[in-house]
Amino acid sequence: MEAQKRRRPRMCVGCREEKTKREMLRIVRNASGEDVQIDITGKAPGRGAYVCLNRACIMEAKKTNALSRALRVRIPDLLYAELLSLLEGKEA
Ligand SMILES: [Zn+2]
Repeated sequence: MEAQKRRRPRMCVGCREEKTKREMLRIVRNASGEDVQIDITGKAPGRGAYVCLNRACIMEAKKTNALSRALRVRIPDLLYAELLSLLEGKEA
């Protein structure tokens, strides 16, 4: 029998709390680190980080650069703008 893969906790880079997948957005970086995007499917390959679906956590992640540190890549401002616009779509 194959050993069960340990599931890594999904911790928000903003508030550092663990939440369920539905309450979070996944941001994924490709292997070369050249591309960072919001992983809508939650299944994209690559190094991922999570942030809660709320403005405070997204702004905190931006302010503290937590997302950059989690993914070890520079996060463009555009990505934060995208996160916020996704959030608005969910709230509407
Ligand atoms: Zn959070």
